[in-house]
Amino acid sequence: MNDRRALLRRLPSVDSLLARSEVQQLIEVYSRDPVVSAIRAQLNEARRAILTAAPVDIDDGALIQGVEDVLSRQQQSTLRPVINATGVIIHTNLGRALLSKSAQKAMLAAAGAYNTLEFDLETGKRGSRLAQASGILRHLTGAEDALVVNNNASALILILSALAKGKEVIISRGQLVEIGGGFRIPAIMRESGAALVEVGTTNRTRIADYEAGLSEGAAMLLRIHSSNFKQVGFVEQPTLSELTALAHERGLLAVDDLGSGALIDTAPFGLDHEPTIQESITAGVDLVCFSGDKLLGGPQAGIIVGKADALAKLKRHPLARALRVDKLTYAALIATLEHYRRDEALDEIPVWRMISRSLDDIRTTAERWATQVGGTVVSGESTVGGGSLPGTALPSALLALESESPNRALEKLRRADPPVIARIAEGRVMLDPRTVLPEQEADLLTALESVI
Ligand SMILES: *Cc1c(COP(=O)(O)O)cnc(C)c1O
Repeated sequence: MNDRRALLRRLPSVDSLLARSEVQQLIEVYSRDPVVSAIRAQLNEARRAILTAAPVDIDDGALIQGVEDVLSRQQQSTLRPVINATGVIIHTNLGRALLSKSAQKAMLAAAGAYNTLEFDLETGKRGSRLAQASGILRHLTGAEDALVVNNNASALILILSALAKGKEVIISRGQLVEIGGGFRIPAIMRESGAALVEVGTTNRTRIADYEAGLSEGAAMLLRIHSSNFKQVGFVEQPTLSELTALAHERGLLAVDDLGSGALIDTAPFGLDHEPTIQESITAGVDLVCFSGDKLLGGPQAGIIVGKADALAKLKRHPLARALRVDKLTYAALIATLEHYRRDEALDEIPVWRMISRSLDDIRTTAERWATQVGGTVVSGESTVGGGSLPGTALPSALLALESESPNRALEKLRRADPPVIARIAEGRVMLDPRTVLPEQEADLLTALESVI
């Protein structure tokens, strides 16, 4: 016991730790209050260890290290901006699509002032929160009507719950996909009370398979776009027009889950052709659903466009209210859609600016980085990511940095402020200028200089 008492007495006071220069440095980074709390917590922890475990002598250095670890972990648990040097444009782990400048401004304006979310200035009466977004969506896609919900997974749940509950939904075995994070189409269908009828095989499904799968209890033919994987070789799927024709012949709904939802053709940029929303509408489907924060380049949302009568049923369903989006999402979405209407999407929407950025421009940037921090410029590839356009890439120019331990270098870059996320290829640290914002370049180079 004396032992323990002696050890307790040797523990420093809060004030004596605060006076140390290492702790003063921590205060500069994290500010005083969090540092004081972390010191108290460390001292309590130390007292408990001394009283309950085999007696251990805890020195000040270990205590301060403990304080720093706690503070650094706390900081990591907040949402921080990072520099994405991976070249993955719609990076799911890093927040998917970045918003355009005017979408950011629109969100800020909607956040800080009352607005016309559900108010009609003409009549002075209650208006629809959907009206404006719906108008632009109709204009851009050629659809009769539109609805916006929380994300594309919830769009799918709403469609199935409102239009196919207790009925059969026919889907190709080649499309029973996992959309990511463990969410699978069959599970989503089960939750919404629709009965799944699988037709065809993994690699080939013909229109005759759909016909054979139809019964009295069928409500819908559903196509799920294979957005995050690619089938090659002996594969076959009917066209959306064929599917729609069959559905309508039998009095059923044709629904298309496009996933990414491109409004612009990706093929001119050297990528595969990602099916567009306009193509699905032209094929005559009743409903198309897609994400707001994949190739559309807007906020997280699930957007449903299509026939007015099908959408009217969705809007009346109680889930529509539960899944509705708030003013900030509307503000950002409308501003994003306006870029398409004004034909300026390639310049203004970050996703499309990155997709359309020229190789020359990227190489020039990589060379400028190399001049400043060393390393060599090598040819590489960027990807669109976000579960779109699997297996195709955009040619890029990367800054390659030699390092004795590339993993260690990556870790150090993640600890920079702001953190830099890079990747390793051929044993070197690779940085892709395509996804680094011009305003982040100075911070990136500072981080690189301190790590290399
Ligand atoms: C990404 C994706 C979804 C899910 O969309 P979220 O907006 O992430 O909910 C659903 N279906 C397909 C085909 C997708 O690619």
